This record gives sequence, structure tokens and C-alpha cells, in this order.
Amino acid sequence: MEKPNEIEFEGKTYSRNEFALRGSLPNCDICVRNTRARYDAKYMGGSWAFMCRNHFKCSGAKLGLGLGQLLITYNELKEISKDEKDNS
Ligand SMILES: [Zn+2]
Repeated sequence: MEKPNEIEFEGKTYSRNEFALRGSLPNCDICVRNTRARYDAKYMGGSWAFMCRNHFKCSGAKLGLGLGQLLITYNELKEISKDEKDNS
């Protein structure tokens, strides 16, 4: 499946540089318990980590080229594309 230029996910629009496609979601690198990560982003001055929503928020990480990406699975992308077709 090709990467679209833009997606809408949970009511927000993400441009191509703000999301990445994966087969499945990894675990958050920061959580002690295994929590699903939703972002791959830079934090604390330069290291990259998989982050859950909470850690993304409190780390102050941002989305964009060289900054961080929202992680979307191929299955989610399929659902998103289907929704868009239904709406038009
Ligand atoms: Zn976490």
C-alpha cells in the first residue's frame, strides 16, 4: 500500500512527514509496563524513542521531518482510506 500524502486520524490531519507506516505498533520505550507506542519521536535533545501518547505529550516531542512521526499500521491505513471513500 502506498503512503498517502495526508491522512486523517482521530479527527486530526497529518501530513506525509508527520506519520510513518508500520506492520504493527511497537511498545513504548519509556513505559515500564508494555504500553503500545503511537509515536516515534526525538526527545531529550536528540535520542529517538517509541512513545505512547502520554510520553509523547510530556516529553515535549514534536511531529515533522527529523522530529517525530505518528505511527499508523497498514490495517489502520486501510480503515482510514475506506472511510474517505465512504464520505465522498
Ligand atoms: Zn509510555
